[in-house]
Amino acid sequence: MLLKTRQVGDPVLRKQAQLLSAEQLKSAKIQSLIDFMIETLRDNPGVGLAAPQVGESLAIIIIEDLAKYHKKVSRKVLTDQKRKPFSLQIIVNPTLKTVSKSNSYYFEGCLSVDGYRAIVSRQSEIVLTGIDRKGMPIEVKANGWKARILQHEIDHLAGIIYTDKMIPQSFMTEKAFSKNWTDKVEKDLLEFRY
Ligand code: ZN
Repeated sequence: MLLKTRQVGDPVLRKQAQLLSAEQLKSAKIQSLIDFMIETLRDNPGVGLAAPQVGESLAIIIIEDLAKYHKKVSRKVLTDQKRKPFSLQIIVNPTLKTVSKSNSYYFEGCLSVDGYRAIVSRQSEIVLTGIDRKGMPIEVKANGWKARILQHEIDHLAGIIYTDKMIPQSFMTEKAFSKNWTDKVEKDLLEFRY
């Protein structure tokens, strides 16, 4: 079942998401929610989705970056972004464990801020801990684009939207982004910092 993606302005996107107990996670309701989130993410399509984005204030994120999504992005940009395909990952009750000292700057979009993009600074490398959909502990190490997606999704669980962290001058429509910025690499984007 496809779920409706909530848009910025919906109060659920500003709430602190609730952690799930082992029992809650096992329930048919939550297991179905996870399945529906996967369907919804792939339908859009997107690379990450947090439960509050479908109206559930729960600490669940899912991420997936498929090779077919990369066809519209130039090799140059994919390399610069350290963006490589990765398969579906479901992380419940995630915690950002350690963070790197270096940051990277790229455009982000969000299914809950439909039609816009802006540059956001993110940690280049992260480590996350949490549990999988069966309740087993997991640790996820990520760098580059995957690290960016994870930080964006974890922010949703704290009621934070990328526009809270963006470089304001870089905020633009999807159309303007496609027209002017798709082929730019990080060093071209740094001008927005000033
Ligand atoms: Zn988002």
